[in-house]
Amino acid sequence: MIFLDAAATTPVRREVLDAMWPYLAGGFGNPSSHHTLGEAAAAALTGARTAVAAVLGCRAGEVVFTSGGTEADNLAIKGIALARQAANPQLNRVVISAVEHPAVEESARYLERFHGFAVDVVPVDATGRVTPAALAGLLRPETALVSIMYANNEVGTIQPIAALAELARGQGIPFHTDAVQAAGWLPLDPRALGVDAMSISGHKLGAPKGCGMLFIRGRTRLEPVIHGGGQERGRRSGTENVAGAVGLATALTLAQERQAGQQARVAALRDRFIGAVLAGVPDAVLTGHPAERLPSVASFCFPGTSGESVLLELERRGVVCSSGSACAAGSDAPSPVLTALGIAPEVAQTAVRFSFDASVTQEDLDTAAAAVQAAVAGVRNLGAGQGR
Ligand code: PLP
Repeated sequence: MIFLDAAATTPVRREVLDAMWPYLAGGFGNPSSHHTLGEAAAAALTGARTAVAAVLGCRAGEVVFTSGGTEADNLAIKGIALARQAANPQLNRVVISAVEHPAVEESARYLERFHGFAVDVVPVDATGRVTPAALAGLLRPETALVSIMYANNEVGTIQPIAALAELARGQGIPFHTDAVQAAGWLPLDPRALGVDAMSISGHKLGAPKGCGMLFIRGRTRLEPVIHGGGQERGRRSGTENVAGAVGLATALTLAQERQAGQQARVAALRDRFIGAVLAGVPDAVLTGHPAERLPSVASFCFPGTSGESVLLELERRGVVCSSGSACAAGSDAPSPVLTALGIAPEVAQTAVRFSFDASVTQEDLDTAAAAVQAAVAGVRNLGAGQGR
């Protein structure tokens, strides 16, 4: 099987599992306990926080461990917007982009439904990019928060985060970015990017599902979403997932080391794959930005097919990928991300996303490109047969 669905999730790396194991077995203490087992767990948590902070170039106190990317997005959006609204009731608008993950979009909609916020959606161009001019047009004195993702999970388009964040912060508006897909591929230094909050998920990086983090810049006011015993300095209650935090820290450190060495190699493989797919299926449409895209994502529409049928044909040929985001898998509705790029709904329904991690090989991608040509031809033949 050739696994080309790494944007959905990745296997746990051996080094990550080895680093976690002591805290799942012998060192299983609760970090809040005042005995040796508890202190060892607390020390492991501190070590993980310091390691994450070293990768990001931030302070350890600015790292809040969460259960994953979804929770980090919820905490950033609800937490910052509600804290700002509590301090100044006039701050009752949030800005998000038209291509956000549901974790961001639905958090903003929750604020709209229950807390009197208005949600301003900044459009993207045909490549999936938010332009600074489009964002500038939506910023108002009442804007409590801007949230724009670093790189898109369906088409891989990278946003000009530093320019967008500078615009918002120039007007005193905090800026959050969902970096779940960017982590491991793009620079993450929040101060260089100029962001106030940034979400990262472990399972996209070779850590297990159910661990993640939010970077939150010191002194940014944050209302917790999960209330309880006051862990994570009151910002996220609940007994900490010590092994998960250690796993996330290990995976992030390994991913950053890899980033330097592998980014150009994987981007070159991606471009070769895109070329091979377009040669094999000349009417295929590459979605997203031609150059400003993650090294790890190649996404297409295959007009005249159905994405789901192409996926089945590909799986029969040993290639596993997806039609877009894993959250929407199995849904018949066209992807809101693709329609936001101006792609017609009937074409958006033919989308297939190939995504890979740094272990991908040229041989795998050459085999996959040949399988794509055969799968698309297979689906079209079937369609023509049914039409007769
Ligand atoms: N944000 C983006 C861009 C994602 O791709 C995902 C995962 O699919 C998430 C957030 C959610 O992360 P998690 O699965 O850790 O909750």
